[in-house]
Amino acid sequence: MSLTLNARVPGGALADKWDKHRFDVKLVNPANKRKYNIIVVGSGLAGASAAATFSELGYNVSCYCYQDSPRRAHSIAAQGGINAAKNYQNDGDSIQRLFYDTIKGGDFRAREANVYRLAQISVNIIDQCVAQGVPFAREYGGLLANRSFGGAQVSRTFYARGQTGQQLLLGAYQALEKEIAKGGVSMFPRSEMLDLIVVNGRARGIVVRDEVSGTIEPHLADAVVLATGGYGNVFYLSTNAKGCNATAIWRAHKRGAAFANPCYTQIHPTCIPVAGEYQSKLTLMSESLRNDGRVWVPKRREDVGKKPGDIPESDRDYYLERKYPSYGNLSPRDIASRAAKEACDDGRGVGPGGRGVYLDFADAIKRLGEDKIRERYGNLFEMYQRITDENPYAVPMRIYPAVHYTMGGLWVDYNLMSTIPGLHVAGEANFSDHGANRLGASALMQGLADGYFVLPYTIGDYLATARPESLAADASEVKAAVADVAARTTRLLGVKGKRSVTSFHRELGRIMWEHCGMARDAAGLTKALELIPSLREEFWQDVSIPGSKRFRCCATSFGRTWSCRGPAPS
Ligand SMILES: Cc1cc2nc3c(=O)[nH]c(=O)nc-3n(C[C@H](O)[C@H](O)[C@H](O)COP(=O)(O)OP(=O)(O)OC[C@H]3O[C@@H](n4cnc5c(N)ncnc54)[C@H](O)[C@@H]3O)c2cc1C
Repeated sequence: MSLTLNARVPGGALADKWDKHRFDVKLVNPANKRKYNIIVVGSGLAGASAAATFSELGYNVSCYCYQDSPRRAHSIAAQGGINAAKNYQNDGDSIQRLFYDTIKGGDFRAREANVYRLAQISVNIIDQCVAQGVPFAREYGGLLANRSFGGAQVSRTFYARGQTGQQLLLGAYQALEKEIAKGGVSMFPRSEMLDLIVVNGRARGIVVRDEVSGTIEPHLADAVVLATGGYGNVFYLSTNAKGCNATAIWRAHKRGAAFANPCYTQIHPTCIPVAGEYQSKLTLMSESLRNDGRVWVPKRREDVGKKPGDIPESDRDYYLERKYPSYGNLSPRDIASRAAKEACDDGRGVGPGGRGVYLDFADAIKRLGEDKIRERYGNLFEMYQRITDENPYAVPMRIYPAVHYTMGGLWVDYNLMSTIPGLHVAGEANFSDHGANRLGASALMQGLADGYFVLPYTIGDYLATARPESLAADASEVKAAVADVAARTTRLLGVKGKRSVTSFHRELGRIMWEHCGMARDAAGLTKALELIPSLREEFWQDVSIPGSKRFRCCATSFGRTWSCRGPAPS
């Protein structure tokens, strides 16, 4: 099938495009807005901000999430911070510099017009969140504080200790709750979207499974927004929550939405190393720690078994400071991750299995005092100590790269619309503004830019132009989509094999990490392409999904993603 991708980037100078576009887009007048229904799937930063803002504008909104509350979306896990080109530190930042850093950090593969818009909007996001009461860290005098993040030589990251995502999500959540209370948003928690309904080539609704009752029903609208997060869990071990899955965007892809750049997976350099065979999650140690922590390994292989305190300064290799002096420990994530892998491949990795490097705070504690370090990173240090039973104030942390963020996703044009008219995609679910790599603290920025400031303009342009007509719940396309979902669900439940979903998922993750992870070559990728189909075949012969119609979403999501990729072997 050939597909023409038209990014619909407005003409004119880069810096003027967004202002010009906002003037050029068609508007829906206030009295007409209430005639339109918009479905938003996802209540993370991208979904909650979009749903709340659409409702504030006057549209009727339905919002869906699979968690028991919208505020449990995975955005809550974000620790380090959110970028904005405010230049509060007077250290040379500007919209142009944030734009340039993002483009360069993404290996010049991002769409420039989108990134420039993102940098412009970044300054509004902070104002919006402060007005909502988000408790960003402040300096002694009351001004908003900033810290540095990888890939930047200025301090432009706004933060709330190590809980920035949680605080931003509380802001978006309360905006959403306000609209729910007002009646503008109908919220559907514990509801999983299992398919997209496309009528006459336009997205007109979704098929949803109620996780409590097991009921499968269509929900119809004039436009659909997917804000369903990333797909890093395809690697099994990642920093993503266990529930994160790719069902929504994958089903949309199967209905015709183009998928872009799935190869661009971000591997985050500062995670707690894998500790055992049966681990199901990897824990992120925020990149903000690299503001004060120094990364090193022993210079000599024979020293890897020694206690770090017994290795003198002269025998340590601060390899990031040595190789990349201008960014040092704040090198971009892809560079820092590859450098850690190289050191471990060289036999100089520390800790069990030799897959770890030190992140050492001794110098910072000497310079600033333990109290200051506790004030900046206290909750992260506590988390590390609880997981590893090592005190990071006394011994260096051990870290290793892990899968963290997906730059690929559904392709979108400048209006954030996919190749299916009416289907818009926001946040980590779209192929995003970041290019081949994402600079730290810019995913939160993108999710909120999409939801608060971009979609509220561009969805109106779609509705005013397309003028969707009414659609009956018993239209043939609607009935067919519901029947498809019911059949897939029945097929999954009917396998009645012996092997758990988790064991298949773990094996798939191993194949992905081994052959499609940090280092890739033709032989490895070919091997993965041999291994995956046979694993899929075994899945369809032997998967065990206990229970009947009421079964857990994460188990079925994983199965369903596979069920979409090809027919079940007969
Ligand atoms: C540990 C960690 C720390 C991070 N720290 C930072 C940071 O400091 N700064 C930064 O900029 N970025 C950070 N990131 C990245 C950032 O948090 C995410 O990219 C961002 O929060 C994603 O937001 P989202 O709204 O796109 O998706 P999510 O927050 O993942 O929300 C997805 C929503 O979609 C819903 N959903 C998904 N599928 C379905 C379905 N089929 N049916 C119904 N609902 C569905 C979910 O219920 C949820 O409500 C971090 C990521 C991780 C994992």
